[in-house]
Amino acid sequence: MRPEPPLALLAELTHRCPLRCPYCSNPTQLTGAGEELDTATWARVFAEAAALGCLQVHLSGGEPMARRDLPALVRAAQGAGLYTNLITSGVLLDAPRLAELCAAGLDHVQLSVQDAAAAGGDRIGGYAGGHARKLTAAAVIRAAGLPLTLNAVVHRQNLNNLEQLIDLALDLGAGRLEVAHVQYYGWALANRAALLPSRAQLEAATAVVAAARRAHAGRLVIDYVVPDYHAARPKACMGGWGQRFLAVSPAGRILPCHAAESIPGLDYPRVQETSLHAAWYASPAFARFRGTDWMPSPCRGCERAEIDWGGCRCQAQALLGDAAATDPACDRSPRHGLLADALAEAASAGQDFAYRQFSESNIRSDGIV
Ligand code: SF4
Ligand code: SF4
Repeated sequence: MRPEPPLALLAELTHRCPLRCPYCSNPTQLTGAGEELDTATWARVFAEAAALGCLQVHLSGGEPMARRDLPALVRAAQGAGLYTNLITSGVLLDAPRLAELCAAGLDHVQLSVQDAAAAGGDRIGGYAGGHARKLTAAAVIRAAGLPLTLNAVVHRQNLNNLEQLIDLALDLGAGRLEVAHVQYYGWALANRAALLPSRAQLEAATAVVAAARRAHAGRLVIDYVVPDYHAARPKACMGGWGQRFLAVSPAGRILPCHAAESIPGLDYPRVQETSLHAAWYASPAFARFRGTDWMPSPCRGCERAEIDWGGCRCQAQALLGDAAATDPACDRSPRHGLLADALAEAASAGQDFAYRQFSESNIRSDGIV
């Protein structure tokens, strides 16, 4: 089947970040600054994405503000006709830097918070003073007239503060709040026992969201998805492998999702050698899990095969060592019991984190000069 064009590009500009979140979605093998794509290459990638049919670019990382050329990158994306969304921790964002980005054509900011108050936020993010900087960044964003989405990644150690997180979003003038449960691969998988919420926490949080949606309708949109470990059916990860989104890593790998490098044996093309068009339509890596032909039992022939597309390939890889297996988040998977085992382990686990960090042992090399 010939796929539809992608809707959006996730541009992972860098893995550098002042924060050290223990659930960071970056791979555990991080890319060093010396291997990041340069400004001109990113500008070409944005033009290729727009020509391919993408409508928007998410400028992400790591912390994209760590790139000194960010205004030039925003200008290039905006010039290519893409809607530009900056996904940031906010700790490097001040009024002068935001003014540069606005002048370059920035359309929207998505600001992450680690908790509702400073003590928890700074501990979870591993960055003293970070929460206060985020509040300042939010005020700067709203003063500039930009629309603001607050992104709250939730887990056992902050889910009880969900009402306060919603109040924070209202206080900061956000139009949208994403209550995003941690996805457990990479750094988050290493910290899973300290992060998984209990069923009781989840049910309380779901009720809080329902009440807040009613109370703040027309003022605050709240996005909320039940986490995989408490669900009976998996999510349609990325809207299906290679069907709606593509990502480019800091070193230039073209990926069906930002975590796809965790799957071994797939030869992802690089922007240095392959156009986004060729990657999307002709690369074996994008075709590998697209559609339903690859599916094993029990997905094959399942009535939900074209609804959830068999769930998340990276989760199947992370939990089963087999990216071509049914996502164990599905209760029809013969390995679904693994999730209950993980919940039981988490119920008696402590609160300590293994923080995300750069070290000699986890800086990857793609051999790019
Ligand atoms: S999740 Fe935390 S550590 Fe990872 S990029 Fe975002 S702010 Fe930085
Ligand atoms: S068996 Fe496969 S297609 Fe069916 S619901 Fe489970 S994950 Fe989805």
